[in-house]
Amino acid sequence: MHNYIQQYINGEWVDSTSTETIEVINPATEKVIGKISAGSKEDVDRAVEAARAAFPSFSRMDIEDRIKLLENIAKEYENRKDDLVKVITEELGSPITRSEQIQYEMGLQHFKKAAELLKTFEFTEQRGNTLIKKEAIGVAGLITPWNFPTNQPSTKLASAFAAGSTVVLKPAAMTPFAAIILAEIFDKAGLPKGVFNLVNGSGSTIGDAISSHPGIDFVSFTGSGPVGTKIMENAAQDIKKVSLELGGKSPLVILKDANVKDAARTAILNVAMNTGQVCTAATRTIIPKSMHDEFIEAVKEALPDFPVGDPQDKNTFMGPQVSKEQWETVQSYINKGTEEGATLVAGGPGKPDGLDKGYFSKITVFTNVKNDMTIAQEEIFGPVMSILTYETIDEAIEIANDTKYGLAGYVFGQNPDELFKVASNIRAGQITVNNPKTDFSAPFGGFKQSGIGREWGDYGIEEFLEPKAIIGMPS
Ligand code: NAP
Ligand code: MG
Repeated sequence: MHNYIQQYINGEWVDSTSTETIEVINPATEKVIGKISAGSKEDVDRAVEAARAAFPSFSRMDIEDRIKLLENIAKEYENRKDDLVKVITEELGSPITRSEQIQYEMGLQHFKKAAELLKTFEFTEQRGNTLIKKEAIGVAGLITPWNFPTNQPSTKLASAFAAGSTVVLKPAAMTPFAAIILAEIFDKAGLPKGVFNLVNGSGSTIGDAISSHPGIDFVSFTGSGPVGTKIMENAAQDIKKVSLELGGKSPLVILKDANVKDAARTAILNVAMNTGQVCTAATRTIIPKSMHDEFIEAVKEALPDFPVGDPQDKNTFMGPQVSKEQWETVQSYINKGTEEGATLVAGGPGKPDGLDKGYFSKITVFTNVKNDMTIAQEEIFGPVMSILTYETIDEAIEIANDTKYGLAGYVFGQNPDELFKVASNIRAGQITVNNPKTDFSAPFGGFKQSGIGREWGDYGIEEFLEPKAIIGMPS
């Protein structure tokens, strides 16, 4: 049992002013695995006060020392590998191999990348008579979702520390234990007190208090659109800057010269990874009409290579949905797909055979999907693929862009001109061509209703900086 009913404020674990707690459930077993404090607005006040007090000296800390600090954090993070992998597997239901290779690894890379980038990052620029100086934005409030328990906080935290910002973090109440380990890592790595503050609790109390707090200068949020709107409304009251990483309905365009078997595997991988609980999931697979039957066969043939089941089993590809509520949402979309006339190719409603305990879904594939169907327009956040067909590349691009979202896009095939044409014309923040390695310095964020601002790498650091122009200083 993980019982962490304290908050981490000003470099120490302290009691909340609230005695209420929130239970945390392992979604694979449906068992309670621990609890956290439900937190209070007063806890947020204390955390903001500590972050404000720490800001003047932390924002002026030598760059060399800040690099050392980020390197220490990366080292301590590596020392806690086993604990992180274990806890993410338990609280999220992520299969243990994925917890290690993806969840753990992504969280680590942001700290390493920030340390590396700081070595050459230009905080000042002379333009003629004007000096442009980039200064830390102040106290940042960070609100993160449950789908990547260390990656989501880490990208924000690494950028904030690199820029010299101090922070108050509220992680998702469903997956709080990985963030508690992060607090222990920062403590061990020698982060000055007050730079990092962790307040656990619900979004409606703690998240709301953060986004409306006058002592916070910048809110960086990742999660759903409706909550993003609330955060902007709160932040508007005192003109706080906001950065929002919201949802997506990303297209995967398969070119006609693609290897069909490889394309089918890529499509399954990109929709079922993390049980479909990925904001950049490729949920609309847009294929040439002439490839349709062959593609469907290839998908059916490949599906057994993506086993669903116990997250503790090293061979499992896909674990459960994070919660009962999320499972029910996914089920309702699967039913909606059938109701609106799409053709079920694989999966469907209910739990996979033999998995009665735990919030498990089937990897579900629909074809004959029209882009105006609910399953093609709304973010499902589950392993549900919608297959749509095209005759010309221009039609593929039109379908790809017929969405309110613009977080990511994928293109798979061989012809370099066509790959580039599709990549250039999809209106989204990050396009993946074939299956490259993750680039942790590439900007990450959305066009359209997928959000505002960018994370990762130098673009991520810039979000936590304010440019100041000093004009006409005598030299
Ligand atoms: P969510 O409700 O937006 O939660 C994200 C974070 O915001 C959590 O820490 C949450 O706290 C907090 N929050 C909730 N209400 C808040 C409020 N009024 N003010 C400030 N913060 C608040 O997302 P979710 O419920 O976890 O997931 C719902 C849907 O969001 C998913 O189905 C998916 O479509 C989308 N989503 C997108 C991403 C992404 O990476 N873009 C990630 C996760 C989810 P608590 O949950 O702890 O109460
Ligand atoms: Mg919620």
